[in-house]
Parts: sequence; C-alpha cells; structure tokens
Amino acid sequence: MKKYFLFLGIVAGLYACSSVPVTGRQQLSLVSDDDVLTSSLQQYSDYIQTAKKSTDKTATALVEKAGRKIAGAVEAYFKTTNQEQLIANYQWEFNLMDDPQVNAFCMPGGKIVVYTGILPYTQDETGLAVVLGHEVGHAIAKHANERMSHQIAAQYGEAGIGLLLSKSSSTVQTVGSVVYGLGAEVGVMLPFSRKHELEADHLGLIFMAIAGYDPNAAIPFWERMSQQGNKGILEFFSTHPSDNTRIAEIKKELPEAIEYYEAVWGKKNTTTPASKNSNNQWHF
Ligand SMILES: [Zn+2]
Repeated sequence: MKKYFLFLGIVAGLYACSSVPVTGRQQLSLVSDDDVLTSSLQQYSDYIQTAKKSTDKTATALVEKAGRKIAGAVEAYFKTTNQEQLIANYQWEFNLMDDPQVNAFCMPGGKIVVYTGILPYTQDETGLAVVLGHEVGHAIAKHANERMSHQIAAQYGEAGIGLLLSKSSSTVQTVGSVVYGLGAEVGVMLPFSRKHELEADHLGLIFMAIAGYDPNAAIPFWERMSQQGNKGILEFFSTHPSDNTRIAEIKKELPEAIEYYEAVWGKKNTTTPASKNSNNQWHF
C-alpha cells in the first residue's frame, strides 16, 4: 500500500494532477475530461430512455428553476475566476423523475436528475438548492474522473501509467478501452467516498450561496435527512459520513459560503428579497 501511494505521488508529480475548484485540493487525474464525458453521456442517455419522468408540473418546474440558478452560479464562479474552459463542454439538463428513492445526481457535463422521493426532505426551492448544489459539486470537482484514475493506478500500476505516458496511437487506444471499461464498471453513478461527499457539500454551499440561496438552509435539510434513517437512500448516505460529522463540517464552512453570498447579493436582510449588487462586480 505504501508503495502504491509513493507511486501515485510520483505519477501525480510527473503527469496527472489537477486541483479541485473552490477547495484547491490536488487530485489524481489520469483520464481526459472528454473520455469521462463520453462515458457518462452514454450512461445518462441509457438512463433517460428507461426512467419515468414525473408528471408533477409544479415540482418539475421548481427543480428546473433551482437547477438553472445553481448552473448560473457555477458559470458565474468560473467566469469570475477565469476558468470558463473547465465547463466549456457543459450542457445543463434538469429532470425530475418519478422514483421513490431518496436520491439525486449530476453527471459530468451537467446532466441533473432529482428523484421525487427526495422532495419530502427538500420541502422547498432552497432545500432543492442544497441537493442540487451538492450534486453539481461532485461533477465540478470531477470526482468520477478521480475515482477512475485511482482504479487505473490500482489495477494497471506502473504498466498502465507507462502506457499513458508514451503517446503512441495504439497506446491511446489501449488506454481508451481501459477508461470505457472502467466507465461501465465503476460508473459515474456509483457511491462516492466519504471525502468526496464532504467536498461536494462544501462546493454545494458555495454554489447555492452565489445563486442567492441562504446556505444556512443546508443544516435543517441534513437534519431532516438524518431523521429519516438509511431506508432507501443510495447516494446521500451510501458512504456514511456520519450525520454529525457532515453537519459539523457544513457548520465550519458556512462563514465562507456567507461571504460569497454577501459578495454577490449584499448583506443578508430578511425583510427584503436579495438583489444582485448594482455594479455587478463579484469578488471571489
Ligand atoms: Zn454526494
């Protein structure tokens, strides 16, 4: 195991390291964004063809509304930080699916799916923004890419990395097939690690704040989720950041999220609705 980490350290230094927006964490990135996107779009298309859309027009419109605002926040964040190229391939889509599971996901490329089973816990538009911010956070932090990269490093070791480093066309093909195999195998819809869950929470708070939602709403949302227990939950509790750990981390991150909120929307005033700063200068 130690050797594996040493090896990863060398690989990361040589070739394949990127940093997560907002948190700045360095991550292993052996797979190209295009490969992840191709693989995830295929899975999305398969899913959409078989899943049942909700017929609740009001709830569907609310998912769309909150989703557009979160997407707008992400675009504003990347524009302001001069990193627009990182989401150049995003084409947002927002869906509410008739499914009793307490779940939601956002695929790389901005394909967002919410299940009706989570609506009793989100309760309103701001609650939805907590969920959407979190899911978009996974996509923006490229957690699927990172997971695939670790799979490659673990399964193929130095030989796999050697292939990646030499860039002959047969190599590219070999690596491509590895990535597609992994895409199907580890998928982009499988549970994320605890570290990734907490990081998605962090990014989600920032994005919802930039979108004009009060990030404090994340606390009561997670309290409602923790009260309902584990039944039927796939993504959200699958890797068990314990409720207390999760809520404690969110509390620590709230002041940062509120700074973003105030940079965009001005000081929070509960008697008047937020409006964007008139000079439209965002500082973050
Ligand atoms: Zn998650």
